[in-house]
Amino acid sequence: MDIPRIFNIMESAHRIHNPFTPEKLATLGAVLRLAPGTHVLDLGSGSGEMLCTWARDHGVTGLGVDLSRLFSEQAKRRAEELGVADRVAFVHGNAAGYVASEKADVAACVGATWIGGGVAGTIALLAQSLKPGGIILIGEPYWLELPPTEDVARGCLAGSIADFHFLPGLLDSFRDLGYDVVEMVLADREGWDRYEAAKWLTMRRWLDENPRDELTGEIRAKLASEPVRYATCTRAYLGWGTFALMAR
Ligand code: SAH
Repeated sequence: MDIPRIFNIMESAHRIHNPFTPEKLATLGAVLRLAPGTHVLDLGSGSGEMLCTWARDHGVTGLGVDLSRLFSEQAKRRAEELGVADRVAFVHGNAAGYVASEKADVAACVGATWIGGGVAGTIALLAQSLKPGGIILIGEPYWLELPPTEDVARGCLAGSIADFHFLPGLLDSFRDLGYDVVEMVLADREGWDRYEAAKWLTMRRWLDENPRDELTGEIRAKLASEPVRYATCTRAYLGWGTFALMAR
């Protein structure tokens, strides 16, 4: 049970698997005014950077669930490195349908809303693990500008233009689901560059070390096409943010 191997390869050197820089992640932790002992559940926790740094900086406790064995192991190592292994735990597994036995003050899914079949389903899933009055965190893309064609939308790795809202529409959709939007931190192009361009060097190093792997051809083709695809599509049209929600 794991995510497709190509993602484990491309993002093996990432600490944050989304367009947030460490500074943005720290801003998000600060603006949520986390009190020590706040319990955070993170579905699709990746390499655990959010829970580990918030445990270090704000004294939160946390549970992360992620389908990537590699990222889950990296998260455990990061917790030890930051001296927070007694406060955060990482489980390797499928977070689809995951309801925590210990209810959380903050329940997050940051850049993995397919886990609940989309934003609405993921909010409903997280709500099952949330204490009354708790905060839901959703990390999600939105259009900065309308892609001129469906091809460009697919180049942004969307299924179609209809898959994402503009920012006002995304905020509206949270309201329609019965939630107040109580905070948001938005990624910028520097964050997108860090997330996407870091994959290129990782791919190049991997190719140098794995000239005869079954994925060598695919990674070679990806490295050749990704910089232009990213600059043409994602970088020009796609925004990304994390939104803090409280049920009305
Ligand atoms: N929130 C993390 C990771 C975002 S990337 C961060 O911001 O760094 C998306 C993550 O979802 C990856 O770590 C991937 O392994 C994980 N994932 C994908 N499908 C999943 C599933 N069904 N259950 C749990 N994790 C999943």
